[in-house]
Amino acid sequence: MKPKFINVGETFSDFKVYLPYATEDNFVRKKVYSSHQAFVHEVMIESLGEIQERLKETPYQLLILDAYRPFSIQEYFWSLCPDEGYLAKPIRDDQRNIVKGSNHNRGLAIDCTLTNRASESWMPMPSGFDEFNEKAHRVWTNQKKKFLQDENYKYAIELEEILEGQGFRGNPREWWHFDFVTHLEIDYVDLSFEELIS
Ligand SMILES: [Zn+2]
Repeated sequence: MKPKFINVGETFSDFKVYLPYATEDNFVRKKVYSSHQAFVHEVMIESLGEIQERLKETPYQLLILDAYRPFSIQEYFWSLCPDEGYLAKPIRDDQRNIVKGSNHNRGLAIDCTLTNRASESWMPMPSGFDEFNEKAHRVWTNQKKKFLQDENYKYAIELEEILEGQGFRGNPREWWHFDFVTHLEIDYVDLSFEELIS
């Protein structure tokens, strides 16, 4: 049976979607997605709805930068950057069945940032998206006050508070990455975007 995914941009009209992996402007310098369509597992639908409502009270909109990622693309990324600090290692068994991957591979993670609702410009953040270094790390828990004086951290914290308030957990090394926490058993998937919706 096919997993149940939803198209974020179609379901939540107030969210913006721009996927750097559907362009050449990303860490692999190649277009790896066929379109700017963000899919997530339907288990997230209620939380994303709450996030959309909460953001309507702010000057910001949520911009989705990555969501469902086919498992074979995870393997491609891993072949270029085999560093478990920044990528979930894709694992198959001897029969080539998927054993483990990234939460992106089962529609349980989103990468996102905040944009200004009026100007649509990206809010400043601690580093660029997919900048794999310590600037992107969430290190502020014990030093929140210090970082709150910095405009860039202010928006990262705001993003974190909004998503973590709705069942997501921020990745310690990536300000943009949030995993959805669920106790349901959800499989990893290796379907193209077209196969997913056909
Ligand atoms: Zn991510």
